[in-house]
Amino acid sequence: MEKEKITYENKNNFHKLSESEKKNVFAFCEDYRQFISKAKTEREFCEDSCRLLESNGFVPLEDKKTLKAGDKVYAVNRGKGLIAAVIGKQPMEDGINLVGAHIDSPRLDLKPNPLYEDQGIAFFKTHYYGGIKKYQWTTMPLAIHGIAALEDGTQIKIVVGEKESDPVFCVTDLLPHLAQKQMAQKMNEAIPGENLNVILGNIECDDEDAKEAVKENILRILHENYDIREEDLLSSEIEVVPAFDARDVGLDRSMIGGYGQDDRVCGYTALRAILEMKNPDKTAVCLLVDKEEVGSMGATGMQSRYFENIMAKLCAKTAKNYSDLMLRDCLSNSTCLSADVGAALDPNYAEVSEKRNSAFLNCGLVLTKYTGARGKSGASDAGAELVAKMRKIFNENQVEWQMGELGKVDLGGGGTIAQFVANLDMDVIDAGVPLLSMHSPFEIAGKLDIYMTYKGYREFYRNN
Ligand code: MN
Ligand code: MN
Repeated sequence: MEKEKITYENKNNFHKLSESEKKNVFAFCEDYRQFISKAKTEREFCEDSCRLLESNGFVPLEDKKTLKAGDKVYAVNRGKGLIAAVIGKQPMEDGINLVGAHIDSPRLDLKPNPLYEDQGIAFFKTHYYGGIKKYQWTTMPLAIHGIAALEDGTQIKIVVGEKESDPVFCVTDLLPHLAQKQMAQKMNEAIPGENLNVILGNIECDDEDAKEAVKENILRILHENYDIREEDLLSSEIEVVPAFDARDVGLDRSMIGGYGQDDRVCGYTALRAILEMKNPDKTAVCLLVDKEEVGSMGATGMQSRYFENIMAKLCAKTAKNYSDLMLRDCLSNSTCLSADVGAALDPNYAEVSEKRNSAFLNCGLVLTKYTGARGKSGASDAGAELVAKMRKIFNENQVEWQMGELGKVDLGGGGTIAQFVANLDMDVIDAGVPLLSMHSPFEIAGKLDIYMTYKGYREFYRNN
């Protein structure tokens, strides 16, 4: 008789996957790698997601007067977030299965009036967005992605630095020969925020009377290529991001390195999971939000009423007599996976993690019961019952998973959209991919973890 296993161990089981499952892992991750190499901003992620949704039979929610089980709809929030739903057989009051990720990532945003010239070099001024280590953003190729909104309502898309033939941009840093003082400074003070200026050009326009001839030449190029003037930049949103594609990492190709995997890795896996949903019992909803990296504020962030408003519409369109109680019941009876990345233990900096409660690369989807800092402050702290429910779903469906805490007690901390979802009276737990070098321009994720996260979300939709 086999002895019952009573100990628990967190393990990397990549080598134990069947050949066909391994194939699935690598094929899925190649799709993912290509997707995030292109969709680098929340607007682009949203646009490319809509394309995938449309080609998989989803239609705009506003096109449907009524909804019935099996219908697939989506709604876009101001071009920067979206909600996709597959209507279930059970009424909305029974609650939904929600997977919510954010699609904004740390970056440099252009200031509203960004263009200037100094000592014959033209620059864009930036204001960084989210928690970055500023020194990581100097001396590497950068691309600009964004839109200019014009008075007549049209939008001009601007993407430079992605095509092989495009120029790229850069934030300079001091040569070591003259950096004696800088090198003795604290890491968080060595690169001042106002020095994160993006280099743009160095040729004067041929107007002899121009006061700032290099700047003017840049304006002429912008005008020629995009038909915009300097004032149009005031109503633009342009983001500066790493110019390189995501790549396979490691001789065994076990990892993917790339920009903005926090949290596009969970955004993409959640999206792929909802694309496959057919006739679920409970309505399955995929939510992609903006502004998580700056506190989930704003009309496109998780603290906005947008999510509730769309849920109200789903309730109203699936039932004959809509009432407010229907929406309240729907929210109360729902379960949410807050789809966000966790920190993987980095052997080079193992001292910040507590090994027994840390997530490890390629050990599977990471459930994070609580985030917060200094005594779990600010954490929504998922209930044990919800952890048990997820355990069951994952274990019964061969989803590799692990538990992870964000670093040692009192060393730091973080937060996700979980706390705002919990405020809606919903059960919620963080579930996503553990990363190395989180918030850096080249974050690293394990391929098994990426695939298992997708599989985990899919099984959650199917089995709950
Ligand atoms: Mn995140
Ligand atoms: Mn983050």
